[in-house]
Amino acid sequence: MFRHDALKLSAPIVAGLLGLSACSGSAASKASGSTDDNKPSIVVGAYPFAYVASQVAGDMAEVTNLLAPGADGHDLELTAKQVAQVGEADLVVYQEHYQEAMDEAVEQQSPGKVLETGSFLELLPRSGAGTHESEDDHDHESSSAEASEDDHHHKDHDHGAYDPHVWLAPTNVATIGDHVAKALGEIDPGNADAYKANAAALTEKMNALDGSYETGLATCEVTTFITNHAAFGYLANRYHLTQVGISGISTEEEPSPARIQEIHEIAKANNVTTIFTETAVSPKVAEAIAGDLGIQTAVLDPLETLSDQSAGSDYAEVMSSNLESLRSANKCQ
Ligand SMILES: [Zn+2]
Repeated sequence: MFRHDALKLSAPIVAGLLGLSACSGSAASKASGSTDDNKPSIVVGAYPFAYVASQVAGDMAEVTNLLAPGADGHDLELTAKQVAQVGEADLVVYQEHYQEAMDEAVEQQSPGKVLETGSFLELLPRSGAGTHESEDDHDHESSSAEASEDDHHHKDHDHGAYDPHVWLAPTNVATIGDHVAKALGEIDPGNADAYKANAAALTEKMNALDGSYETGLATCEVTTFITNHAAFGYLANRYHLTQVGISGISTEEEPSPARIQEIHEIAKANNVTTIFTETAVSPKVAEAIAGDLGIQTAVLDPLETLSDQSAGSDYAEVMSSNLESLRSANKCQ
């Protein structure tokens, strides 16, 4: 918790806390359970936002990811205590319509500062080219193309029509970093220059990653890739590949038998060599399809979480591993 929160406590409570914790330095930090009262607190609900926040904040802020390591990002559930943490945060970074629990917590708690990444990133429709979803999984009547046309110019557009996996293009991660630096600079002006410098370093790293993707995927024999769920729309769009998700935009959408049949046909028609699985979700369906087709499976990690199952210790490393998986599956030169 940051210093302005101390003002929310009434005078008698503050006095009482001072009395109880006279031997310690900070009454407010005791009250909030925070480890360092002088550092801004950043709360997020998925790994990519924690990565950006940590890269920009360094040790100048406390970053809390409310999603347990290895858990499925779409399934985030928050305890009452975690909802309160959202309210106490100096900064919350999230993408609307990705995790219902985060949307609700932000709405209920009105944290100090909120960075909703869809407010400044260019969002892609949920079902891009080659990304099919089963009809009954739609919670919107209009097609995403219509929604994108109608809503694009409105500030309060419905992101439910959009793909929330914004971090799966490194350039978006760089942009989020710039916005985090700006927000932190307003919360903690003394370190504004340091946040800015860290964001610039992150941009440099993301540009290098983007360059290796562009080069690495420029010439591939196969341009379609099949994933467990349709998380890779931003990646496919940026590097001119076609993503086909077995299930839809969320891991909670189960593919129908007709959809599985359709995947078989797409795989054969496009000479697909590999069905991609992910670390946080059961690979059973993907493995069954690959088995039927006599092709292999490999991991393509949507990075919604980072755990000891991940093929790297941070976003950049796992994305590099993803690039190698794609290059190998799609026979890139
Ligand atoms: Zn996802």
